[in-house]
This record gives sequence, structure tokens and C-alpha cells, in this order.
Amino acid sequence: MTGIELNGKTVICGLMGDPVEHSVSPAMHNAAFHRLGLNYAYLPFRVSKEGLPGAVQGIRALHIAGVNVTIPHKTSIIPLLDEIDPLARRIGAVNVVHNKSGRLFGSNTDADGFLRMLKEQGIDGHGLHAAVLGAGGASRAVCFALASLGCEITILNRTLQKALDCADDMEKYAGRTFSALELNTHNLAAALEEAGLIVNATSLGMAPRADESPIDRGLLKRRHIVVDIVYNPVKTGLLSQAQKAGARTIGGLDMLAWQGALSFEIWTGRRAPLDVMRRAAAKAVKRYEK
Ligand code: NAP
Repeated sequence: MTGIELNGKTVICGLMGDPVEHSVSPAMHNAAFHRLGLNYAYLPFRVSKEGLPGAVQGIRALHIAGVNVTIPHKTSIIPLLDEIDPLARRIGAVNVVHNKSGRLFGSNTDADGFLRMLKEQGIDGHGLHAAVLGAGGASRAVCFALASLGCEITILNRTLQKALDCADDMEKYAGRTFSALELNTHNLAAALEEAGLIVNATSLGMAPRADESPIDRGLLKRRHIVVDIVYNPVKTGLLSQAQKAGARTIGGLDMLAWQGALSFEIWTGRRAPLDVMRRAAAKAVKRYEK
């Protein structure tokens, strides 16, 4: 339910991914459109890998105003678009497409969403040492965001080569070196000794395997700030462990709401009602948790 009467002038936005059934983005964006009284609607579009070129052509053909892009299309959509924002190109992932009179412009609001979340939490990255777990699309956005703040970063990933590639790409961007290690207990112990900020950007801990955590509890200390960008469940196993260790914790819903708000502003040109989006996202996640 959007709360808005659909009619011939309704502007369509949406999400392209596979799966999309459990996405909270429709709830988040439709609540925002409703709050601002905009005649927009946001729909989930399940798009297979093979279907992506046709779906992208469909954005133009159907005059869809914009879409979010999620797994598995964030990288493969890049060559199908007309223009890519330089940061999104460096990250190698697009999560927002804006249709400007038939020309499709791709950008990445995960990186800026992460930065806005940090700022809102009063975390100044300068001089901070961060350990970032994962080297997928979301992790690369987080790493580039942290690099832009001047953080020292150690990237830990199950597949070492992807962590090395991310560190290389960031070096070209920031002109300084970053560490890359295989994600295992030994390397985590060393990295977490150094780190003040820990970010889980792997999909470990995501429902339905919510009991999994990428970090042994004994490695978490009171002095750590622990961010889990996984938002389903709201309180992941890692966040529970970190709280028990006395660490400060931040869940993934805040970044989610920020990246959504930035997408909303790209499509509508209006300031997003962030708190409305955050509440709608939290409610939708709770619904799926049941
Ligand atoms: P992705 O590109 O598929 O990357 C997944 C990452 O998780 C890779 O680094 C992968 O390691 C690692 N991983 C997966 N299973 C693992 C396991 N069993 N053990 C160790 N590492 C494992 O996905 P993504 O787009 O980066 O998303 C990652 C998570 O972030 C998802 O849970 C997503 O929902 C969340 N996310 C949150 C937000 C937000 O706004 N809060 C935004 C974007 C994404 P390998 O490279 O070795 O496969």
C-alpha cells in the first residue's frame, strides 16, 4: 500500500535485483513519497542476470524515473548505462540509476550513505584505523568512503584476491597504501589490535543464517566501535557480541535509510524525509524477521 492513488501521471521508480521479495526499499520509498504527497510509486522488479539488458532498455521505454540496483546487478549494469559517476566507477558498483530524458546515469549512494551515517553518529574518521570485513560491492563502497576521510584501512576477505584488488584500486584513488588480508581468526586478531572501527560488510549474519558472525567474541573489546551493515536482522549476532564486550555498536538500518534518502533526492529533487524512511525500513525488516 502506498497510500497514494495511482493514476495516469504516477511516476514510477523501483528496484532491480534477484531476489527482491524481502527488500525493504519499496516500504521505505513509498512511505517517503506519501509523506511528501508526491505522485510517485516504487515497485520491486525481479530481474535475472540474462534479463538485465532488456530490463535496462525497459527503464527508457517505460519512462521509469529511476531504479535502485541490488545483487546480482550492481557491477554488470555499468556497461549498459550512458554515464557513470566517477566514484561509482572507482567502486565498481552502481546502486542508483537516474533516467534523465532517456539517458541513464549511474551512481553509488552506498558510499555517501555510509559517510552520512558516520557523521550523524559523530564519528570523525580522521586518524582512525578501520578493519573492514568483506570485499564485495558494499565493502568497496565503505572502503572508498573511509579512505576519503583519511582512515587507515585493513581489508579482510575470505577471497584474498578481491581484498588485494580493492586495496590496489584505493591506492590509485587515495595515493597511499592499504592492507589486505585473508579473513581468518589469526589475521583478524592482528587487525583488531590496531583498529578502532570495525565494519562488517560481508553478508555473514544475514537472515536466514542470522546466528553466524564473522568475528570470535573474544576479539571484540570495549574500545571498538562496531558497525554491521547487515540490516536483516536489525540486531545481528555480531552486534550482540559487541554489546556484550562493552563496545559501541551501529546497525545497518541507518546506512540503509541514508542511501535510500540520497536515491530519493536524485530522483525527485526534493529533500528526503529521512526519519520516515528509517521508521518504514525498520518496520519492514521487523515484518520479515517474524
Ligand atoms: P557481495 O558483493 O555479494 O559480497 C559479499 C561479501 O561477503 C564478500 O566479501 C564475500 O566474500 C563475503 N562472504 C559471503 N559469505 C561469506 C562467508 N560464508 N564467509 C566469509 N565471507 C563471506 O554483497 P554486497 O552487496 O557487498 O553486500 C554485503 C552485505 O551488505 C549484504 O548483507 C547486504 O545486505 C549488506 N548491505 C547493506 C547496505 C546498507 O545500506 N546497510 C547496503 C549494501 C549492502 P568472498 O569475496 O570471499 O565471496
